[in-house]
Formats: sequence, C-alpha cells, structure tokens
Amino acid sequence: SRKYVVQTPFVGEPNKSNFKIVEEVLPAIAENEFLAEAAFISVDPYQRMKLGATFPCDMIGGQVAKVIESRNSEYPVGSWVMGHFGWRTHTITKPENEKFCGQKPYLYKLPDFGDLPVSLALGVCGRVGNTAYFGFKEICQPKAGETVVISGAAGAVGSHVGQIAKILGCRVIGFAGSDDKCEWLVKELGFDYAGNYKTTNLADFLKETAPKGVDCYFDNVGGEISSTVLSQMNNYGRVAVCGAISGYNETDPEKRKATMVQGYIVGKQLKIEGFQVNRFADRTIEGINQNLKWVREGKLKYKEHIYEGFESADDAFIGLFRGDNIGKSLVKVK
Ligand code: NDP
Repeated sequence: SRKYVVQTPFVGEPNKSNFKIVEEVLPAIAENEFLAEAAFISVDPYQRMKLGATFPCDMIGGQVAKVIESRNSEYPVGSWVMGHFGWRTHTITKPENEKFCGQKPYLYKLPDFGDLPVSLALGVCGRVGNTAYFGFKEICQPKAGETVVISGAAGAVGSHVGQIAKILGCRVIGFAGSDDKCEWLVKELGFDYAGNYKTTNLADFLKETAPKGVDCYFDNVGGEISSTVLSQMNNYGRVAVCGAISGYNETDPEKRKATMVQGYIVGKQLKIEGFQVNRFADRTIEGINQNLKWVREGKLKYKEHIYEGFESADDAFIGLFRGDNIGKSLVKVK
C-alpha cells in the first residue's frame, strides 16, 4: 500500500515539499474487516484547513474504492464504497472505525450509478453535491424569480449550486477566475451572467446584472468579493457561507480577518448562516439520489478535472488554490 504523508504544516500555498509518499505493508484482514483498493481520490479545499496539529501526519480525504478482500458480509468483494480513508491506495477497515470530522460513521456502499462513472460519488453525486443541494436549498431558501449570486461559481460546489438555482427558477449570477470558466457557466450550464473577478469591477457588474438587488448569496470564497455582494443585497436576503477559500493560504492574521460588512447585515436585516454538509449526514443518500436523478434527466451537468495517477494528488491539491480546475478535482489512482 502507498499513502501520502504531510511532513510539514502548510505555510501559505501548499507545495510539493509538504508531501511525501510512503510505502506500507498491510496486515491480514481480521474478522469483520475488509480491504478496499482506491479507484478515485478526492481533492478538496477543506483538506488545507482540517489537518491535525501534529506533523508528520497522514493526508486526509475521501475516496471511492472497491472491496477486494472481505470478512464482512455487508461489504462483499466487488462492492464499491465511499470512505474517508485518506490519500492511500489500500485500506483495511471495518464500518465502526469510520468517522469523519468527529461525526457518525461515514462509510457507505454506493447507490446504483448504472452507466454513470463511480467517480461521481466524489463530486456531483457525493459530499460535494450534497453541500450544494442542502446548503443552497436549506440555508438560502430560494424562491422562483429571486436573484442568486454564487462565488467560486466554476468549482465543484459552485457550478452545482447555480444549476439547482436555475432548476428552481432563479436568476443566477456567478463569479469565477477566468473568461473560459465564465463562458462555460453561461453557455453550458445556463447561468444568466458570469463575471471574471480577476478582471471585472464586480460592484459595477452586479449593478448591471442584478438591478433589483441580490436575494440569495452562496459564498464559497469570502473576503472582498463577499463584501461587494453583501453591499448589494436586498432586505431580508439570505447568505449561505459555505467556504472562504480566498483566505485559506493567507499567513497574515490581520488580513485573514474577513472584511465583514456589519452595517449591511444590520441595515438590510440579512440572514447569514454558516453550514457544514455534515449537518445533513442523515440525509446523505437522499441528496445523492436527487442529484443522480437530475444528472440522468440531463438537468444537472458536471465537469470532472481528473489527474492521472496516485503520484499526481499533490499537484491536484496545489492546483485548487491556483484555480486550475473547472468542476470537481479528483485523482484517478490507476
Ligand atoms: P472548487 O472546485 O471550487 O475549487 C476551488 C476553486 O476556488 C478554484 O478552482 C478557484 O477557482 C477558486 N479560488 C481559489 N483561490 C481563490 C481566491 N483567492 N479567491 C477566489 N476564488 C479562489 O472547490 P469546492 O467546490 O470543493 O469547494 C468550494 C468551497 O466550498 C471551498 O471554500 C470549500 O472549502 C467549501 N466547502 C464547504 C463545505 C461545507 O460543508 N461547508 C463542503 C465542501 C466544500 P477560480 O478560478 O474561480 O479562482
């Protein structure tokens, strides 16, 4: 088995010297255990923030794996599982060992994906898809005809939220970091407008594209972009704070403080709520099945940014913070 070890804490942008691949000899499996072989490994921004405080440590992360040996009848050889096993090629485990973020066991057999690739269990039909589905519907409480703004719009979560907003009859505006990404959002995914935050004055752009103001904001990035959006929200607007990637690599503690514009929140009586998808852990399969249905009906499109080979996981991770990916970033193990 091979696994990624994080040797030193990330300071600023993650880089290759933070990581090392280590070989491990696994023991024989015991009663109730199974051995799973990774097919796809997930690469996500939260991994930057959620590592433990001691180094070296094993790299965390979800993966889609196939059971290749088993002494557990619930997980027979050949079953596909989604588990938070970390960045490793082979894993011996049993269900009661699997916890994620201190919560209940987080391991499940994949629902029937039919002809669709199992890699979708890391993206549109997995935790990412559920972040979009529950985060947007439950926190933003969108209504048809409302104007929705999404930051980080061409990423895995953002591109999904925008499409759900269109399915629900909203006007949708996305911000992303390149013209190509913006073109994809409008031409392929049906966003009404998309603006490149690196080259566009977002305040002016919003005044033009949302002349009646913003009702819902799904925030993936935080920082200045979010201050601009909040300032143009309507009274009683709803903000789902999903992530704040613009600050994840910031080393200056002063700059890390988000520019929260309290005046707008009070004046417009906004409802701003942070959430973690784990809150909806009990409804995991419900979210997956809804997203699977939309994918099958052609209502929900997805892009996977697939890096080939286990050794490319560190590059994939570094690329997230440079905006290299469109849609879900993941690694095909072999
Ligand atoms: P993405 O696929 O969106 O990948 C990250 C993207 O972030 C990049 O492609 C890049 O796109 C953008 N980005 C990077 N740096 C910056 C910056 N400084 N300013 C603005 N944008 C930047 O990742 P995910 O969809 O997996 O995650 C999106 C957000 O959702 C993250 O903040 C993540 O932490 C959060 N999240 C939260 C969960 C929850 O339970 N609350 C669960 C899952 C994710 P671009 O080219 O547009 O800059």
